[in-house]
Amino acid sequence: MNRDPQSEAIAASNHWQHVSLDFEKPNQRIDEIFAADVFGMRKMKECLPESVFKSVEQVLQGGAKLTLSDADVIAGAMKDWAIERGATHFTHWFQPMTGLTAEKHDSLTAPDGKGGVMYRLSGNSLVQGEPDASSFPSGGLRATFEARGYTAWDVTSPAFIMRGSNYATLSIPTAFVSWNGEALDKKTPLLRSIDAINTQAMRILKLFGTDKGVSSVGSTLGAEQEYFLVDRNLYHARPDLVSCDRTLFGSMPPKHQQLDDHYFGTIPSRVLSFMAEVERELARLGIPVQTRHNEVAPGQYEIAPLFETTNIACDHQALLMQTLKSVAGRFGFVAILHEKPFAGVNGSGKHNNWSLSTNTGVNLLDPQDETHNNLQFMTYLCGVIRAVHLHADLLRAAISSASNDHRLGANEAPPAIISIFLGDMLTDLIDQIEEGATSRTLKGGNLDLGSRTLPALKRDSGDRNRTSPFAFTGNRFEFRAVGSTASVAWPNTVINSIVAESLDFLATEIEGSVPEGATKEQVEEVIRKVLKRVIQDHRAIVFNGDNYTQEWQEEAAARGLSNLRTTPDAIPALMNPKVGAMFEKYGVLTKPELESRIEIFAEKYVTQIGIETRQMISIARTMLLPASVEHQHNLALAVNSTVEAGVDASGLKVSLDEIADLVRILGLKITDLDDHFRFALLEPHDACVYIRDHVLGSMEDLRLAADNLEAVVAHDLWPLPGYSQLLNIR
Ligand code: ADP
Ligand code: MG
Repeated sequence: MNRDPQSEAIAASNHWQHVSLDFEKPNQRIDEIFAADVFGMRKMKECLPESVFKSVEQVLQGGAKLTLSDADVIAGAMKDWAIERGATHFTHWFQPMTGLTAEKHDSLTAPDGKGGVMYRLSGNSLVQGEPDASSFPSGGLRATFEARGYTAWDVTSPAFIMRGSNYATLSIPTAFVSWNGEALDKKTPLLRSIDAINTQAMRILKLFGTDKGVSSVGSTLGAEQEYFLVDRNLYHARPDLVSCDRTLFGSMPPKHQQLDDHYFGTIPSRVLSFMAEVERELARLGIPVQTRHNEVAPGQYEIAPLFETTNIACDHQALLMQTLKSVAGRFGFVAILHEKPFAGVNGSGKHNNWSLSTNTGVNLLDPQDETHNNLQFMTYLCGVIRAVHLHADLLRAAISSASNDHRLGANEAPPAIISIFLGDMLTDLIDQIEEGATSRTLKGGNLDLGSRTLPALKRDSGDRNRTSPFAFTGNRFEFRAVGSTASVAWPNTVINSIVAESLDFLATEIEGSVPEGATKEQVEEVIRKVLKRVIQDHRAIVFNGDNYTQEWQEEAAARGLSNLRTTPDAIPALMNPKVGAMFEKYGVLTKPELESRIEIFAEKYVTQIGIETRQMISIARTMLLPASVEHQHNLALAVNSTVEAGVDASGLKVSLDEIADLVRILGLKITDLDDHFRFALLEPHDACVYIRDHVLGSMEDLRLAADNLEAVVAHDLWPLPGYSQLLNIR
C-alpha cells in the first residue's frame, strides 16, 4: 500500500488537542482576572514597605538606581506572590536579536537542609542574570568564545506569570547585553530611544510653557496584529508550513476572497472560542484587548490591544504573539503570523499606531478642535514630517525582512516607498503654515442619513487612506508597513530616535532665535518662521493619493523619494553615515551596535531564504515530482489499454503529452534552483544581492511549474493539502 503523508501527519498531531487551562472558573468576569498574573506597580504598592516603593518610583522617573537591599525586599515580595500563584520557577525574559523572546528557567526552590525545600529569590537574581550569550546572534559584537552575557531587570515593565496546564513561571522582563555592555537585544536600544524622545519632547513643551506638572513625555503604541488560523492536522501535512510558516507551493482555489464575504463576517465559532481564550489569557497578563474581527482573506483574523506606553506595549506585543501560538494548539489550530503564508490572498501586517503622550496623559498629537490655533501640535507634527522625510530609507529598512518583502508593494499593503498621509484638514493646515499664517481649521460637518430614526453622524474632515505606509489617523500616526512577524521594538526604536532628532532640531532653531525676555507673541512668531521652513523643505514626503498606482511610483521618483523594493535594497540604508551619526548622537546605538545589527539582518535574510530554497527543492523532488510521474505513468497505461481495446486514445494522448511536458519543466526548475543554492557559500551581503538577482525569480519559476501540475494531477495522488482546505476549514 502507498504511504500517505497526509494521514500520517494527521495521526501524528491528533494526540494534542483541546487542553484548556482551568485556573479560573469558566466565564469568570474579566475584571476579576485582569492582571491577576502581573507583578507591577499596583502590586508593589500593595505589598512593599512605603520607603522601598518610593525608591522604585524614583527609579521609574529615571532619578535613581536601585540599591541591593531594596532589591532584596522586592525580590522577597515578588517570590511570595509568585509562589502563591503556583510558580515553581523564575526566568529572566528577554528579546535577543532573533526577534523572538528567550527564557532560561531557574527553580525558586532549594533544599532547606532538613530534608525539605524552601523557596528563595535574592535581590541579586532579580536584578541581574548571566545567561550564556554565545548562541544568540551578535553580529560580530562578540566572538563565540566570549560567552558571557548579562540580563538586567527592566523595572519599567511588570513581571508576570507564564502558565501552562502543569507549570507556572515567574517571568521578569530584562535587557540583554554583552560582557562589555553592548546591547544584544531589542529592548535596550528601545529604552534608550524612549529617553531620547523624552528629553527632546520636553524641550518643546518648555517653549510653550506647558511643561508644568509634567515629568516626562513618552511614545505610546497600539499594534494591531493580523494572523491566519490553519487547522493543525492540515498544517502538519505541509512541510513548507512547518519549516517556513508559509506555503512554498499551492494553486488558488476557485473561491477565496473574491466575494469579500470574510472581512468583518460572522466569526466562526471554533475561532471565536479561540479568541475568547486568548483574550482571557492576555487579561491575566494585564494586556488589554480592544478589538477582534475577521480579516480580508479567508482564515485571516485580527486582534488589537489598547495602546500603552511603548516599552510595555512592545513586551505585551511579544506576549500576544506567543499567546496566539500557544492557545491555537488547544483548539486544533496553528496560528500563522507570517506576512504572506498564502500567495494570491491578502497577507498580514502589524499596524503600528504611534503617538506622543505626557506622563499626565495628554496626547501631544491630538490636533483638537481649533487646530489652527494649536501651535504646539503643529510643532510636533512638523517634527514627525521632517523626521520621516529625512529618514524614509531607515524606516523602510527597519521593517524589511524576507517575509515582509512578499507583502510590500503587492497592492494589499503599502508600497516600499515611504510617504506620509495627512488628510485634508492637516494638509490645509500645512499649506497655511507654509504661507506664514494659520487662520482656519477644515471641518467635516454632519452626515444626514435620510431616515428620521437614524442619528446625524459627525463626519471627519477627511477620509482614511489604507494605501499609505505612514498615515495620520486622527490623533496618532499609523505605520502600516510593519510586518506581522516583526518585533515592534525595532521600528519604534527608529521612530522615537528620528523624531527625537527632529524635535531637537526644532527646539535648537527656536531657542537660538528667541531674544532674551521675549514675549509669548514673539516666541510664537519665531516658531511660525521655523515651521514654515520645515514644511518648505520636507513637504515632498506628504502624499494623500492612492499609493498603489503606477503614477505614484513615477511621481515619488520625481520627488526624490526612494523605492527600496527588497530587503537587499533596504539594508544598505542602515550603512548611511547620517543614520549612524543620529543613533550615536542620541545614545541609542553605538557604531559597533549598529554594525552588528546590519550583519544580523543580512544573515537572517540569507538564512531564511536558504531554508526556503532547500525546503522547496526537497518538497518538489521527493513529493511533487514522484506524484506527477505516477500520474503520468497512469495516463500512459490508460493510453496503452485504450489502444489495445481498439478505442481512439487521441484525447488521452494529448493529456499525456501535456503532463509529460509539465513534468519535464518541473525537473528543469528544480535543477535551476539547486544550482543557485551556491549563494549559501557567499558572504551575507553578497548573498543578499545574489538572492535578489537570481534566487527569488528561480523560486517563483519552480513554484509556477509545480502549481501547474497541481491543477492537473489526480487529487488523490497530490501529496499536499490544497489551499481550499487550508483556507476554508475552520
Ligand atoms: P483600525 O480601525 O485602524 O483598524 P483599531 O481599532 O483596530 O483601528 O486599532 C487602533 C489601534 O490604535 C488600537 O490598538 C488603539 O489602542 C491604538 N491607539 C489609539 N490611540 C492611540 C494613541 N494615542 N497612541 C497609540 N496608539 C493608539
Ligand atoms: Mg484594525
